[in-house]
Amino acid sequence: MDGGANDEGWHHRYCGVCGTETEHARGGGCVACDNRAIRERVRRDKNPRKMDRNWVLTSYEEKAGNLPDFLDSLKRQNGRKALSAKQVAVGRKVLAKHIDENTLRTWWDNK
Ligand SMILES: [Zn+2]
Repeated sequence: MDGGANDEGWHHRYCGVCGTETEHARGGGCVACDNRAIRERVRRDKNPRKMDRNWVLTSYEEKAGNLPDFLDSLKRQNGRKALSAKQVAVGRKVLAKHIDENTLRTWWDNK
């Protein structure tokens, strides 16, 4: 008996998006469609650290009481496009006055 063998979180189901009967993750969509959505999201997102860096800059602002012009300009650019490696490096030195190393490594640095 292998009645329980298929019960591993995967099952076949008809996918209305791509119109095929295919493997689905439990609680998720069709695997092929999920993967396509992830790839498209990554390609479209030119600034994957936008939310993280905005959060770091906001934390600094809360701790310092205000945002220096330089960081303010980074925050405005971050809202439009990714920061350059130079901006990340220089911004980091200023941020380090109020933001701890671990936070910067996790939420500020380029991955
Ligand atoms: Zn599909």
